[in-house]
Amino acid sequence: MDTSVEMPPAARTASLISNFQHVTQQIAKLAPSQPVRLVLVSKLKPASDILALHQSTATDPPPSHFGENYTQELHDKAKQLPRSIKWHFIGGLQSNKCKPLAEHIPNLWCVSSVDTSKKADLLNKGRAALLAAATENGDTIQEDERQLRIMVQVNTSGEESKSGVTPEETLELCRHVRDKCESLKLHGLMTIGAIARSKAAGEGEENEDFKCLVETRERITKELGLPLEDLELSMGMSADFEGAIIAGSNEVRVGSTIFGERPPKNQTDSNAPRD
Ligand SMILES: *Cc1c(COP(=O)(O)O)cnc(C)c1O
Repeated sequence: MDTSVEMPPAARTASLISNFQHVTQQIAKLAPSQPVRLVLVSKLKPASDILALHQSTATDPPPSHFGENYTQELHDKAKQLPRSIKWHFIGGLQSNKCKPLAEHIPNLWCVSSVDTSKKADLLNKGRAALLAAATENGDTIQEDERQLRIMVQVNTSGEESKSGVTPEETLELCRHVRDKCESLKLHGLMTIGAIARSKAAGEGEENEDFKCLVETRERITKELGLPLEDLELSMGMSADFEGAIIAGSNEVRVGSTIFGERPPKNQTDSNAPRD
């Protein structure tokens, strides 16, 4: 680990921790018996913010799941920050970035935005290369790191601007990952959903995107002969994580509620949530 990352000013640390605790309390209230993973979305935020949260002694356990959208930013941060961080790649994924991502970040915990079998194959190759290199160098690879978890991103809203497979294409891609990608583990389904629908659901209507992902999981686990709980659901962001938990999400991805507003986003990121 490169120790050049410094802690932020004390006031910044205090506010990050307080925001984090507020979100975890809301999650615990909504899901007292079912554990819901909180992924802290740290894209475009400094490594020092991540370190402040991850090394905090004010929370037990301190957060370890962090999500990033840009491959270069993730490579840079992963190099600078402790190996104990569990990284999630949640951004729009380009094919040529897949192999290096899976190969060079051993503590990449999950890639949540897989939407083609080609990208799955390249991630698979990357993870296999990481294992081969570790064996050759006599490095220890944790059991947990042998297979890279992946989620299939489903475009539940049908918006053209959103990445992801259609609900109808989901089974085929899940099957491909399970049957053809030895170094990957099919972990779940992810959706971003339409912001407008989350707002409507906030006024008492059911969120169509969440409902669609829940139904897609039911269909796919049945087709694949898996228990429901073997395929997680990742849905819910700052604007709608509460509704997502009520709908049965296993994981929420929260950024701005914890880190504050982000600098203007890159227009080329197809996975940036629309405002
Ligand atoms: C940025 C992002 C988030 C977090 O969004 P916030 O609204 O800041 O909570 C979650 N999921 C994905 C895929 C994202 O790109």
